[in-house]
Amino acid sequence: MIKIFRKILSLIQGHITVFKHSFKKRVTLEYPEVKPVIPERFRGKPDWYGNKCIGCKLCEKVCPAFAVTVDKLNDNINFKIDLSKCILCGNCMYNCPKSAIKLTSDFELATDLKENLIVNKNSKDELYE
Ligand code: SF4
Ligand code: SF4
Repeated sequence: MIKIFRKILSLIQGHITVFKHSFKKRVTLEYPEVKPVIPERFRGKPDWYGNKCIGCKLCEKVCPAFAVTVDKLNDNINFKIDLSKCILCGNCMYNCPKSAIKLTSDFELATDLKENLIVNKNSKDELYE
């Protein structure tokens, strides 16, 4: 009898908790329909600015995930990043002497093809401000 009473009591307590929370502000979003507000210092997909890069390869050396490859031939620089390896640590951005890498607010990197995560950029192809 006491067991049944306890079960009914916990059921009522559960309902009271649900009722109280139904009036509180939601903490979840209906993603992807509703996008979250991204904090200013968020570290998302790295972007490379070919017009600033001097091809020093420092980003390649400091990347703990071996995700970056920089190849320089005369004034032509090729920047390759494998986003499937990148851990978004920001090391490349913080160590670049020319501020040629910036981690963006882009966090939607999901794809069904791993090859899509390999980004190849060339300083000749890029048009920057
Ligand atoms: S560290 Fe900066 S300047 Fe050096 S190769 Fe990388 S992106 Fe270019
Ligand atoms: S953010 Fe970190 S892991 Fe990603 S490319 Fe830069 S240094 Fe490598």
